[in-house]
Amino acid sequence: MAEYEAVIGLEVHAQLLTESKIFCSCSTRFGNDPNENVCPVCSGMPGVLPVLNERAVEYAAKMGMAIDCALNPVSVFARKNYFYPDLPKGYQISQFELPIAEHGKVDILVDGVAKTIGVTRIHMEEDAGKNIHSATDNASYVDLNRACVPLIEIVSEPDMRSADEAVAYLKELRSILVYLGICDGNMEEGSFRCDANVSIRPKGQEEFGTRAEIKNVNSFRNVHKAIEYEIQRQKDCLEDGEAIVQETRLYNPDKNVTASMRGKEEAHDYRYFPDPDLVPLKLDPAKLEQWKAQLPELPRVRRQRFENDFGLSANDAATITAERDLADYFEAACAAYAQPKKIANWIMSELLREMGEAKLAAAQLKLAPSDLAKLVKLVDEGVISGKIGKQIFPDLFAQGGDPEALVKAKGLVQISDSSALEEAIDAVLAASPAEVEAYKGGKTKLMGFFVGQVMKATKGQANPGLLNQLLAKKLS
Ligand code: ADP
Ligand code: MG
Ligand code: ZN
Repeated sequence: MAEYEAVIGLEVHAQLLTESKIFCSCSTRFGNDPNENVCPVCSGMPGVLPVLNERAVEYAAKMGMAIDCALNPVSVFARKNYFYPDLPKGYQISQFELPIAEHGKVDILVDGVAKTIGVTRIHMEEDAGKNIHSATDNASYVDLNRACVPLIEIVSEPDMRSADEAVAYLKELRSILVYLGICDGNMEEGSFRCDANVSIRPKGQEEFGTRAEIKNVNSFRNVHKAIEYEIQRQKDCLEDGEAIVQETRLYNPDKNVTASMRGKEEAHDYRYFPDPDLVPLKLDPAKLEQWKAQLPELPRVRRQRFENDFGLSANDAATITAERDLADYFEAACAAYAQPKKIANWIMSELLREMGEAKLAAAQLKLAPSDLAKLVKLVDEGVISGKIGKQIFPDLFAQGGDPEALVKAKGLVQISDSSALEEAIDAVLAASPAEVEAYKGGKTKLMGFFVGQVMKATKGQANPGLLNQLLAKKLS
């Protein structure tokens, strides 16, 4: 059997976080009633003119700068002609020959191996509306709220070689967009979506194989599964002596398969041409300077800083910086208590677990970063044990508030007073004469048993260091 290598290129659509649409002043709000955010421009009435939203240009340009693209001083809007009920104009305004940005790159890290993925182009375009098929009244409706919402399409070079690399690239892109504050990155609501182009070739061969384009993948997990499935499907085809056909395929997450949607012969000829209603977009160098100065610290740089300045492991730094809000949370906690590694440990274990279970993002947390810091400090200073800290964490996470007050209210302060602890130890030793005998006869492993008994008697509140010390003394 020949060995094959996968070749993957991604087309990503990101919805820009502008308040109004790209060519009219309608709201972009998600969740409004159907056709609430609609005017003659975005509903495709004749005789009206589109007016470009400068905020959308700013956001597209910032993304271009963030991934090292060359920005084209002049770019051109073009009409992409096709018919569909959710596209009342009969064409989508997009960019074709001259997009706003080209030749960028994104660095990824997969299993510790760094790689740079080329970005061919970023172009600006408007979104289409949405068809709603109603089963109850056997009819289809068109909702134009999303029509004319600003998008950027980011097209990668076919530089990825595995599903892991594709997902790493997507996660990095999403992270950058969210850091820039230009996209909410919500894959479920479709504000960050991707089409995956997949082909395979015998290892060592220069030429690319024929590709299939997979649509309809709306989570990182599904992107991974769809690509893996598609690679295997293409291998099976070649092994069976069949040729791969260039086509568009739809991913079905319920069945975990891709199925042909349309072939190349049915491929659209969009007859792109420059939109006569829109003048070419000229980027003002002064504005570009201003936008450049506004770029935030990007995920890659922040990750490096967290490793260097806070001493975090590569893995912890990557996880905590992936979401901008979580990285902010971490830094706020460190500002309250300068023990970054300890704070990172609590975030990586307790906090992320609770966030996952509650499906909450960092911006939605009730537990203030300063209160997380306080908790870490209480444990550090021996006021409570680490075990008690973990025990009360779910409550703190759910309600928020001052951990010190909670510890006091629940009477959980660690017993660090020797006389109180000695009392508990004496009681345990008196109740276990056989074990004491055995210990003194050489079975020193029993130390763990005594510690456990005292911990049980004190409901976990004994200071472990002091307990060990006192026990050793009493048993010698
Ligand atoms: P189209 O206009 O038909 O979508 P493009 O040339 O824009 O085609 O390419 C779309 C995407 O497909 C790009 O991300 C590109 O990297 C990727 N791509 C092109 N050729 C291949 C191939 N043989 N295998 C995998 N991906 C490919
Ligand atoms: Mg394409
Ligand atoms: Zn409108």
